Formats: sequence, structure tokens, C-alpha cells
Amino acid sequence: MRVAIVGSGPSAFYAAEHLQKQAAAGLHIDMFERLPTPFGLVRGGVAPDHPKIKGVTKVYDRIAQHATFRFYGNVTFGQDLTLADIKRLYHAVIFAVGAQTDRQLGIPGEDLVGSHAATEFVGWYNAHPDFRDLTFDLSQKRAAVIGNGNVAMDVARILARTVNELHSTDIADYALEALAYSQVEEVYVLGRRGPAQAKFTPTEIKELGEMEAAGVMVAPEEVALDSLSQAFVECCADRRVKTNLETLMRYAQQGPGNVPKRIVMRFLVSPVEIIGSEWVEAIKVIKNELRESDDGSLRPRPTDEYETIPVGLVFRSIGYQGVALPDVPFDERRAIIPNDEGRVIGADGEPRVGEYVAGWIKRGPSGIIGTNKPDAQETVNRLLEDCDSLPDPVEPTREALEALLAGRGVRYVTYADWQRLDRLEQEQGAALERPRLKFSRVEDMLAALDT
Ligand code: NAP
Repeated sequence: MRVAIVGSGPSAFYAAEHLQKQAAAGLHIDMFERLPTPFGLVRGGVAPDHPKIKGVTKVYDRIAQHATFRFYGNVTFGQDLTLADIKRLYHAVIFAVGAQTDRQLGIPGEDLVGSHAATEFVGWYNAHPDFRDLTFDLSQKRAAVIGNGNVAMDVARILARTVNELHSTDIADYALEALAYSQVEEVYVLGRRGPAQAKFTPTEIKELGEMEAAGVMVAPEEVALDSLSQAFVECCADRRVKTNLETLMRYAQQGPGNVPKRIVMRFLVSPVEIIGSEWVEAIKVIKNELRESDDGSLRPRPTDEYETIPVGLVFRSIGYQGVALPDVPFDERRAIIPNDEGRVIGADGEPRVGEYVAGWIKRGPSGIIGTNKPDAQETVNRLLEDCDSLPDPVEPTREALEALLAGRGVRYVTYADWQRLDRLEQEQGAALERPRLKFSRVEDMLAALDT
């Protein structure tokens, strides 16, 4: 059976792994990736000061060494390789492309200079080729990060870290240099709900308080729970919520300490406008109270109280968003490929033959890296249930694929090529006593491979 996997992040590799474990002999997996480098958000999203999380790529390396597996990097689906091509070459395709853009707030001033998506900043400091040429005005003293998820934690932390802390990471060299001159002293993290509803995890909120030159400031009244949250915590809160609350209360009691940078946690505030004539000068927020919604969760409801916080930089960190792929069904409202347990569902409501989906583009942008393992396994199980009824492709060979790519002038990157880039990055990093010096331009990667 020949399977194409589009995308090379965690869900793509876990799908390949489960196929390798479950499928009988005669399996061929070809993984296609738009960039020359694999691993999706593990390379381009995970914060540079979280090297242990990146260690998961050792598992992906093992999957890639399996005789069934080939990697084709620098191949864009829909352009270099279409769905029609895939249908001619494979029995099945698994789309595992993640969520490639960010959600917008839809408030006035969102397009001002200095207002950014957190995902752009994350891509920039991680040397992602799509974002490496962006600029961020780090001469500002105050910044706001909107949202209470782990991406908001990452962005606040990277803004507040010292060069000394970042030097030992694989942060992009140009980002390290720009952050060395950063004037940012105060980072406001704005949550629209209360501390008991924050989405960040205990390790991430604790880490904010363990930095070399930054401390966390939370006013005691900000962590005091409203009666609905109090009742929720007493009846139903899990360990994550309770630990988050303990950490925030400790911050409220201790204060930020005598440090040059502060992360100010604010709760129950929603941005209504980013103020400025050309560039960001302030953010206007409305104070919220919590009300129980129909599904029992506590949702924010605006009061009539406003506040303006002077900031020169804004990062909206309110979630990633999936993007439609050419010729593949897309649910615009949920920004996912419509599916039933991983089987792609067409406009007629029926499963599309041989088309599957895994990861964030299947379920939306939630969960940690490990969440993608059971998600991808479910998809592969459905594929294996269907495999006897999948029509044979007319050109079932790697030679046909490679001839097609060569005919279109596509310089694809193999897994061995990637391993060379990986070694080069590590060697260049070692010379500077850094774990690696990342390539950030596709042309530099290809030039390094072709010399
Ligand atoms: P997230 O966890 O879904 O958090 C999004 C945040 O944005 C929530 O606080 C949400 O508030 C808020 N929000 C949404 N719409 C808003 C609006 N209109 N105005 C104000 N706030 C709004 O998303 P994420 O931080 O992008 O993370 C994505 C996934 O990656 C998560 O599962 C996360 O855990 C994971 N991740 C993990 C790590 C790690 O393990 N270290 C690091 C980074 C990311 P509500 O709760 O009120 O909706």
C-alpha cells in the first residue's frame, strides 16, 4: 500500500509510525513538506528555551529511518504536487498540515505598525523562512500579549529573557541580536477570563517566575476569584487549574522582586481597540465579568468599565487557524478539513475515497505534541479499515513520482539531505558555543546542499 502524507510535523510522523506498526508488508510512505526541513512546529513553533520538548525529534528520526519511509522536502502541495497527482501515485493520502495562520481579533487598530500576531513573532525567533524578514520594534518599553494560552507564555518569556539566557538556545541568530538591544521592560499578559480559566499549564506559568532578570507582577485583587469561579474550583477544578492558582497567588504575595523587567498578569480584560495614528501607542480594554453559558462553562461578559494601557507593541496570541488546501474540502467556520474520525468528508456528506486527515487540521489547534499521537492513530486505523476497498493507483512507483517532480523542476530535499543540514547547523552553532545556528532561508539551505 502506498500512502502519501502531506506535512511533516508531529501528527504526520505519528501517522507514519502507526502505519509502520500496523500495516502488513509492502507499505510505502512518502512524506511531503513545503520547507526543506521537517518537524513542523517542533522546529518552527516550540520555544528555543524548551530544548527538552524538541528532543522528540529523536523519535521522528527513528520513524524516518524505517525502510518504508521517504521524505520529500521543498515540495508544495497544490503547486509542485496536486491532489490529482497523488491519486495517480498512491492508494491514500493523509493531510497533516497543521494550522498555518493565526486568528484575528477584529478590533480597530489591529493593523497598526507594532501590532503583530504572536505566531509571526514565534516564527521569527525560530528562524522560520516565512517570518525571518519581519521586524519588531523592540525599542518600545511596554508590550502587551493578548491571550492566556501557552503561546502567550512563550512570547512573554522570550521578550523578558536576557541574552545570556537565550545564547545557549537555538534561537535565530538575528533574533538573538535584536533581542540583545531590546528596551522592553514591561510585558502585560491580558486574559479575557479569570485566573481559574487560563489555558496555560503549570510548568509554563511557573517558568515566568524563574527568569534571570524578570519577575511576575499580579495584583492580589486580580487573583481573587469571583463567586462562580470559586464554586467551580471547589467542585470541579483539576490539578492543572489548582496549581496555576497556587502559583499566581504566590506571585501576588511575593511581588516581582528587584528586577529590571516585569511580566504583568491581568485578568478579565478584553481588548476593544489598539490606539495610535500610525503605530501602536496604547491598548484600550474593557473589563469583563464571568457568566455561566449554556454549556456550563464560564464565559466573559463585558461591563461598562474601560481602561487604556500605554504600550508600543501588541502581540495577539488568541490561537492558530487552519488554512484551506487546493482541491480539498474545508470547513470555513471551524477552519479544519471536515472529517469523521480522520476520514475526509466531501460536500455530499460522504467520506472521500482514500483521503484522510490528522492533527490540528483535523481537530483544530489544541493540545500538546503528544495529543497528536492518539489523534493520528485514530486516522490510520480508519485508513486500514478501508484499505481493501481503495482503488489501485495507476502509477504506483517512486520512479514515477520522482520523474514528475524532476519534470516540474522541483529540487526536492531527501531525509539524508535534511540530516546534512542538521549537522551543518550544529557545527556552525558549536563554533559559537551554541547548540545550533539555524538556516532561515530556503535558498541558503539548498545552496549548502548543492556545494
Ligand atoms: P490556546 O491555548 O487555545 O489559548 C488561546 C487564548 O486566547 C485563550 O486564553 C483564549 O481565551 C484567548 N482568546 C481567544 N479569543 C480571544 C479573544 N477574541 N480575545 C481575547 N482572548 C482570546 O492557544 P495557543 O496559546 O495558541 O496554544 C495552542 C496550543 O498549543 C495549545 O494547546 C497549547 O497548550 C499548545 N502549546 C503548548 C506549549 C507547551 O507545551 N509548552 C507551548 C505553546 C503552545 P479563552 O480561554 O477565554 O477562549
